[in-house]
Amino acid sequence: MRLVMASANPHKAVEIDAVLREVLSDVEIVPRPPDLGDVAEDGETLAENALIKARFVCAAAGEPAIADDTGLEVDALDGAPGVHSARYAGPQQDAAANLAKLVAALAEVPAHQRTARFRTVVAVVFADGTEVLADGVVEGAIAAVPRGDRGFGYDPVFVADEAAPRTFAELASEEKNRISHRGRALRALAEQL
Ligand code: IMP
Repeated sequence: MRLVMASANPHKAVEIDAVLREVLSDVEIVPRPPDLGDVAEDGETLAENALIKARFVCAAAGEPAIADDTGLEVDALDGAPGVHSARYAGPQQDAAANLAKLVAALAEVPAHQRTARFRTVVAVVFADGTEVLADGVVEGAIAAVPRGDRGFGYDPVFVADEAAPRTFAELASEEKNRISHRGRALRALAEQL
């Protein structure tokens, strides 16, 4: 089965490729065609945004497409940044600025109130209109100071309960994929394909 990658984020694409290869031996992930342009991710939920991306790329490429939409839900911020995680510090979608804003927002929050979770919804859309969705969650907490140089986005401050005290940015990619929101969503997706 060929699946066109709907995500333009190269870090995500590498993780999606690695996990799906492990669980679906007959899947071939095809890179997102560079000339496709962007689609507005203006849905109100992760599922809507994943479907917007996968439908757009499936229609443009004429082949099944796979998309992921992810949010970081911080309890002390009433679930923010959530579906707005990519634009938390503004429309420029600057990962370093998002991270700095999160660290500052939680500066006065004590350790036991820093609980958070990553949530991913993955969608596959087929040319005949069939749509398959799956989600994955990893529970954890937000570190006071960023640590580690692997991964991307909010990884330097996310400490998964299963990997504590290391942040996601301190884990080897295989270890992150084994416990991550995205790894879990993709394995649940694979069971449905
Ligand atoms: P989106 O799914 O591309 O909209 O990503 C939402 C935001 O969460 C972006 O700022 C990403 O950098 C960030 N993000 C998505 N997945 C991960 C992850 O696995 N680790 C850390 N940050 C992530």
